Amino acid sequence: MATLSREVVSEVLSKLGLSELNSGVSTGPDGWSPTEGREVIESISPIDGKPIAKVALANQEDYERVIKEAQKGFEYWREVPAPKRGQIIREIGNRLREYKDVLGKLVTIEVGKIYQEGTGEVQEMIDISDFALGLSRQLYGLTIQSEREHHRLYEQWLPLGPIGVITSFNFPVAVYSWNAFIAAVCGDTMVWKPSSSAPLSAIAVQKIIEEVVKEFGLPNGIFNLIIGKGSTVGEWMINDKRLPLISFTGSIPMGKRVAEKVAKRLGKTILELGGNNAAIVMEDANFVIAKKAILFGAVGTAGQRCTTTRRLLLHEKVYDKFLSELVELYKQVKVGNPLEEGVLCGPLIDKNAVQVYKNAIEEIKKQGGKILVGGNVIEEENGYYVEPTIVEATEDMEIVKRETFAPILYVIKIKNIDEAIRIHNSVPQGLSSAIFTNNLKYEEKFLSAAGSDCGIANVNTSTSGAEIGGAFGGEKETGGGRESGSDAWKGYMRRQTVTINWGDDLPLAQGIKFGLDFGEDKKEEK
Ligand code: NAD
Repeated sequence: MATLSREVVSEVLSKLGLSELNSGVSTGPDGWSPTEGREVIESISPIDGKPIAKVALANQEDYERVIKEAQKGFEYWREVPAPKRGQIIREIGNRLREYKDVLGKLVTIEVGKIYQEGTGEVQEMIDISDFALGLSRQLYGLTIQSEREHHRLYEQWLPLGPIGVITSFNFPVAVYSWNAFIAAVCGDTMVWKPSSSAPLSAIAVQKIIEEVVKEFGLPNGIFNLIIGKGSTVGEWMINDKRLPLISFTGSIPMGKRVAEKVAKRLGKTILELGGNNAAIVMEDANFVIAKKAILFGAVGTAGQRCTTTRRLLLHEKVYDKFLSELVELYKQVKVGNPLEEGVLCGPLIDKNAVQVYKNAIEEIKKQGGKILVGGNVIEEENGYYVEPTIVEATEDMEIVKRETFAPILYVIKIKNIDEAIRIHNSVPQGLSSAIFTNNLKYEEKFLSAAGSDCGIANVNTSTSGAEIGGAFGGEKETGGGRESGSDAWKGYMRRQTVTINWGDDLPLAQGIKFGLDFGEDKKEEK
């Protein structure tokens, strides 16, 4: 039975400045809403199914206050030079270095990912703060050659406004930083609505950021937190014209709703939705690398990553051998308390997720899938533990096309690279993909225009575990958004094309003559 020591919980909460009852709304160090008169929820640890602490949710009055503060904060923040904004993010990164272990532990306690992955998430925040700092001295626009004499043509990037950031439970702190740290150096202020399944991690992050806000004497309204239900706060945000951009990370059905609502008011979205990621293992693959990568990809975070490996497309020549070795590895995976060393698979997030897993196992059986290992809820445990599962499947099974947010890996036999790519691309989602091969032709085909249709394509490494330096996101029903590194920052700014005439005449573009005599020529003749 997994137990979670209450002393450990209290110590973690107190080190992060959290109490038994916490306000879920803040606009800055002196901008926390009172808890009185508000609906209160409990954050439950999936480790033992028991409450960690309580959070008072936002009401409509809180929401209005937050949006107004975020607008006011924007008027200030947009005029702070970008490199100075970068320094603030650098300080936040430094603070996160100090809090890395304890914040990582809270993430583990609140969402159940193993401690290695909990602290890994905080490291990701630190990495993105470094990236954002460098970016703050860039944010480059183009200079373009003008067709007109004595004209300068260029592009500049300007802050967008207060933006809405709605995040999922499974990366309760890192996904926020991908958005917030980049958006902050771009000059935006933000309103963050985290998942109600991970409110304490969000409050802890807000408090760490506010230490820096206070130290630098910044006004309220730059980093704003608003915890509430999707059906209230989430809906208010997606329908609110005062938030020109909604960056949404979550499930496909919810993402579709967000896309519709925001498009209706002609707002912008960055959508980071579900994945159904496949790894192709060809007959020449390095087995050790492939097995390690697939185990991490499929079992890591208990199958609750958007980039989790959900499908294994295995070449017929190595099918039996590779699969039997993978099954043996699965049998050695320790499922249990994610704070314990040696445990590789923690619990699912909640009871509902366990039910979704159970239903999927039933459907798999009905649709003719063969369970090779796993397939059971670990009933003797409190908390929400399930067995990592491998299923022999066929491409026509309906369930294989869906993202079931649990550690279930479907294995499909493939004959050659063309068939592998066809099956690979036959699902509605398009987030992450991988091929394991040392054959140049296979690898290049996989990366070609006729290859993987995903936003992320990896060779000889896992579908899971992206670095922050690249643009992160996916195609098709994954939503098309890009976050984090590369030029994803452009999503958080508005582009302005500027033409400056420094001459004494007014030549028009395309050589158009718009003939009215203003008399200048005649005057000069006199
Ligand atoms: P979810 O869709 O249930 O919730 C996501 C967020 O949406 C939460 O904050 C929730 O409160 C909010 N929400 C709910 N109803 C809303 C509404 N009506 N309006 C606005 N917001 C509303 O997703 P989840 O279970 O928290 O997360 C798991 C999903 O997220 C998976 O599908 C996973 O693949 C996806 N995900 C994608 C990425 C990516 O980068 N592509 C990253 C992490 C997670």
